[in-house]
Amino acid sequence: MKNIYLLGATGSIGRQTLEIVDKYPSEFKVVTLSARTRMEDLIQLIEKYNPKFCSVQFKKDADHLTDRFPDIVFGYGKTSLIHAATFQPKDRDGVLINALVGIAGLQPTVEAIKIKRNVLLANKETLVVGGSLVMELAKENQVEIFPIDSEHSAIWQCMQNGKKEEVSKVIITASGGAFRNKSFEELKNVTKADALKHPNWTMGEKITIDSATMMNKGFEVMEAIHLFGLLPTQIETVIHPESIIHSMVEYIDHSIIAQISSHDMRLPIQYAMFYPNRKESIVESIDFAKLSSLHFETMKEEKYPCFRLAMEAIQSGHSMPCVLNAANEAAVDLFLKEKIEFLEISNIIETEMKKHQVISNPSLEDLLRIDLEVKENIYHNH
Ligand code: NAD
Ligand code: MG
Repeated sequence: MKNIYLLGATGSIGRQTLEIVDKYPSEFKVVTLSARTRMEDLIQLIEKYNPKFCSVQFKKDADHLTDRFPDIVFGYGKTSLIHAATFQPKDRDGVLINALVGIAGLQPTVEAIKIKRNVLLANKETLVVGGSLVMELAKENQVEIFPIDSEHSAIWQCMQNGKKEEVSKVIITASGGAFRNKSFEELKNVTKADALKHPNWTMGEKITIDSATMMNKGFEVMEAIHLFGLLPTQIETVIHPESIIHSMVEYIDHSIIAQISSHDMRLPIQYAMFYPNRKESIVESIDFAKLSSLHFETMKEEKYPCFRLAMEAIQSGHSMPCVLNAANEAAVDLFLKEKIEFLEISNIIETEMKKHQVISNPSLEDLLRIDLEVKENIYHNH
């Protein structure tokens, strides 16, 4: 039985992770849980999984839960997320499943690596902001970082068909998000409700907006560079509206291996949870006769300024991806609060990136400081 330390339990990835636990109850024990504010949902999870420790955002919620569940320890705020990630520090067989959204996921990942705990990582902002630092730390501590994302799980699976040095390139697919069929001009008038209608996936609000702007694809290129040690020039992106091929790896002999499955996150989650084994899954099998055709389109950078900015942040490297991420988090938040228009998201990010003086090899403290400064500046101006 494997112990699970689960951050972001009430979110889209968190809930689907628990579905896998429910399918294989004798394989996993949920030891810690975190939820920011959805207390009713958390209470249900506590009753079902009986964890030892839970992290919430506010003291009043922690106090209330302590009264209700006296045998369980509750913590609140940032430090409690780290505590949940590193609970029972001598348990080296347990895994951190990081399904938080935003930079909040970075420190808990770092601290779990320091106690030599393997990390199943959905929280993409961890690698976007601190990719070099996190991967180096993982290497030093001989810790594995297993991706939970359809694209990176696909690359991971395809990579097992040859040697690392035989890989020539990786082709990351993109559904095209909510606005695939709209022109750049038409994007001027889109609303929050339009942007939240993703054609293929039901996900948290932030990543759904990141998919509409294509920032998500930019983030995924960054993650692939760090996870698989690739050069930026080895990564191509292609729009594939059906989201059936989740990514591909081309080898030096020009043989391309693709990973194909339904668009259902429970497959990449389960793959990471059971790796190196495969298990029966609740995910539907693909019926090719019903599919009949698959489509591919080139990615037009002029239509997706956020994707272009992500590529520029890769070129600059060092502290620039942190600025990109911080500005994106703040801008997406403002868009979700209906304080700015859709196309202002990329303008805000570009302004912050232009202002930034790149810091070489930023430390964790540098990254957290830059994140705060960028966000404060944006909120101050809006
Ligand atoms: P979500 O918004 O549905 O859930 C986020 C979870 O994190 C919730 O439990 C919430 O309470 C918690 N949380 C959010 N901000 C927090 C903070 N500041 N402090 C503490 N807790 C906080 O998000 P999601 O869609 O599940 O995405 C989680 C991560 O996985 C993101 O990084 C996302 O990009 C990535 N991801 C998601 C999907 C998907 O299908 N949903 C696919 C691939 C990758
Ligand atoms: Mg993805």
